[in-house]
Amino acid sequence: MPAAIEAIIVANNARSGPVEEISLEGELTKVRTELRTRQRETIMAIKPVPFEIEKTYPPRGPLQQYRLAQSAAFTCFRCGESKKSKLITLYGEDWSRRLCNGCYGRLLSIFVVKAG
Ligand SMILES: [Zn+2]
Repeated sequence: MPAAIEAIIVANNARSGPVEEISLEGELTKVRTELRTRQRETIMAIKPVPFEIEKTYPPRGPLQQYRLAQSAAFTCFRCGESKKSKLITLYGEDWSRRLCNGCYGRLLSIFVVKAG
């Protein structure tokens, strides 16, 4: 058992009551806030283009497809699946709205039908 957990248990046994629970909750909140701040900093650091783009394809309506220099892991905003691919499609030039190749094909056919 890690020393920190043992210390908490000892502290709780020594002074049982709501005081320790409140301080533990406070520590957790501090850690969560710090993690969120770090995540935000990381996201800001990688914007606006988080990947090295090797090839930019002609845009099709709101869809813009890119080929990356290295395959990247991303979550498709339409189907919600985690993908790892060199091909990535953005909806409305928004890097937070990434599409997998399958969804790109589906949206493209819808777009072509609408346009035709
Ligand atoms: Zn998808």
